[in-house]
Amino acid sequence: MNAKNLSERLRLVASFAEQGTVLADIGSDHAYLPCWLIQQGQISRAIAGEVVKGPFESAKRNVAKEGLTDKVVVRLENGLQAIYPDDGVETVTIAGMGGSLIASILENDADRLTGVKRIIVQPNIHAKAIRVWAVSNSWKILNEAILKEDHKIYEVLVLERGDQSYHPEELLMGPLLLRQRSAVFQEKWQGELNEISRVINVLTQSAQSEEAKSKRKQLSDTRDMIERVLKS
Ligand code: SAM
Repeated sequence: MNAKNLSERLRLVASFAEQGTVLADIGSDHAYLPCWLIQQGQISRAIAGEVVKGPFESAKRNVAKEGLTDKVVVRLENGLQAIYPDDGVETVTIAGMGGSLIASILENDADRLTGVKRIIVQPNIHAKAIRVWAVSNSWKILNEAILKEDHKIYEVLVLERGDQSYHPEELLMGPLLLRQRSAVFQEKWQGELNEISRVINVLTQSAQSEEAKSKRKQLSDTRDMIERVLKS
């Protein structure tokens, strides 16, 4: 993958960026996403934020190589601190991390989201953590998508401001993905179901502590919920 030949996963994230928007890509190791969006003429300017020095240097190198230093600013900053008040950022993308880490990045510097109208996230796991964060911070789910690439399944969530509540199964599996029930969605949740059932079996055979019992109960409830949805 490079800035000219973006993965399907990042193309899907990119597809939700509105025409002409100013975008901040947080955790932008190679800055491929912002460079590609600029080259497509889809966004006007971008910030590429990266907290680790090596990936930050690589992002800077790529932006220079693509001749985009006037359009893509690369910053070595933690999370949303890469967004400065005068940037005019309207769209934030955070891709390729766990849902809990993405939710904590959004939570930690919420003041940097002033002026942001759309958040596009692609959690590798635990998308529920982002939905829970969204509900308690007055963001609602505008769109969701799911895709399989290189044997891995990815979800993309698009958030805009607004209040909305969701049922437990919607928080876990995604309100719109649940309605669409694509083949990839079914495959993902059948896989999750198999894994949860395996862990429950291990806990049943090995651990009898109160903590293990409570974990087993929690997993059994989740398994029952997924089973109900897949059968309905
Ligand atoms: N966004 C790219 C993608 O989807 O292909 C890169 C994904 S890479 C697996 C995750 C990147 O996020 C790493 O380069 C990591 O250093 C960076 N990262 C993790 N936590 C971060 C944070 N709090 N602030 C900025 N970058 C972070």
